[in-house]
Amino acid sequence: MYIVMVTPEIAPVAKVGGLADVVFGLSRELEIRGNSVEIILPKYDCMWYGEIFGLCVDYDNLWVPYYDQWIHCTVFFGFVHGRKCYFIDPHSDKGFFNRGVFYGHWDDAERFAFFCRAALEYMLKANKHPDIIHCHDWQTAMLPVLLYDIYANLGMTHPRVCFTLHNMKHQGITGEFVFRETGLNPLDYFRADRFQDDANPHVVNLMKGGIVYSNFITTVSPQYAWDIRTSEQGFGMGHTLYTHQGKFGGILNGIDYDVWNPETDRYIPHKYSLSTLDDKYNNKEALRHRLLMRQDLKPIICAIGRLDHQKGVYLIRHALHYALANGWQFVLLGSSPEQAVNDEFWRMKCDLNDNPDCHIELGYNEELSHLIYAGSDLIVIPSLFEPCGLTQMIAMKYGTIPIVRSTGGLSNTVFDANYSELPFEQRNGYTFYDPSNEALEHAMVRSVGLWYEYPQQFRQLMENAMRYDYSWNNPGEHYLKVYDFIRNK
Ligand code: ADP
Repeated sequence: MYIVMVTPEIAPVAKVGGLADVVFGLSRELEIRGNSVEIILPKYDCMWYGEIFGLCVDYDNLWVPYYDQWIHCTVFFGFVHGRKCYFIDPHSDKGFFNRGVFYGHWDDAERFAFFCRAALEYMLKANKHPDIIHCHDWQTAMLPVLLYDIYANLGMTHPRVCFTLHNMKHQGITGEFVFRETGLNPLDYFRADRFQDDANPHVVNLMKGGIVYSNFITTVSPQYAWDIRTSEQGFGMGHTLYTHQGKFGGILNGIDYDVWNPETDRYIPHKYSLSTLDDKYNNKEALRHRLLMRQDLKPIICAIGRLDHQKGVYLIRHALHYALANGWQFVLLGSSPEQAVNDEFWRMKCDLNDNPDCHIELGYNEELSHLIYAGSDLIVIPSLFEPCGLTQMIAMKYGTIPIVRSTGGLSNTVFDANYSELPFEQRNGYTFYDPSNEALEHAMVRSVGLWYEYPQQFRQLMENAMRYDYSWNNPGEHYLKVYDFIRNK
């Protein structure tokens, strides 16, 4: 199958969040399975150019309609760790993708609507007729409607569109000018059953239009697919998703086992696997040594991630204090986009500076994160909502038991050691539902209780967790089924 991903991000060169990892990991898996995959994205000035190999001009004479004018674009080609990427570079005094940041400008909707038109114009001119165009998030939501309204009439009748929703918080709210900008008649599209926002009839909702016009919509876990259709987690998109539920489903993301694998991980001093699990404890020792923590018969509980409201910051804070109050150890690695939250954790860090059972590391530190995953016994992930979540899947691969709030992808991947209906061999962690301190404490007490009182059973739980396959293998197969389904419709 010939698949073109149209995306605002790909890891590691243009990465803001998990979307970038999904595009990279899924593309690679699809190629391993014998498909041809190409990726089209904007040529940002702030990309990590050192990781793009063989960058060269692929198409220099691309003229893309923009209102009643045209913008000249150059399309570059380059490999990103083996993936074939095409970067669109518009030559306009607006400097659409030369802003030093990926997002956050007042004209984001205009820039990405232009990108959608440019991607299609490029495919048309370069004579690319993929079986599937796979779009990601609101930035690419204009593509399906442009395909059916304009490019199908120019001969692009073959491609089918799959649209993946990574996070419902950002939907691309804008004005009706985007239609005129991209050559569409606003009267046809600014309607309640198409692009008009459900909450505010005066604005255009790009994600909604993408949902209406795509052949299939996916999101990043089955539970999140349910949550966003039926609760406030849909940020107002529930009704539209309900209307289109016949072409909507959730597919769990995978993680890259080339990067996250304790058998080969170059960032951990002691490699280990299921059969050499005792070596994990050498990493525990190394972690304590590095963070100047006391070596003692205590469990290490960790938390790794953005200190964002979504992640249940108040519960993370409580988990830390509760662990220390009970004489356990706690390691936190995280950072917040909000200064106030960072300041608060800095104060906590200073207060706990001399505590040999605790370490708080504020900032982003990929290398340290590997050692924390390997050296900890438990990881706490009390998210208020979580589309998929990678940290629990990574932790399990390292035999670190997750304690999670059961929401979104967390509830599709973590099965409670005491309460799950699955047989014990398939249980792999601890869950709680109520986003309260008490519910979290209860799950922590149960997990640490097993760690102290029944080490053999705790170890079995670790082995259960390590046996799960959260690689791209299963998601790759699921996406191919979706592609097949819409091709044959
Ligand atoms: P998000 O909502 O942030 O995408 P995920 O659980 O899907 O959350 O992915 C988080 C990823 O980012 C994981 O790979 C995690 O290890 C990594 N990560 C988050 N914060 C940090 C940090 N401060 N330092 C290193 N890695 C981090």
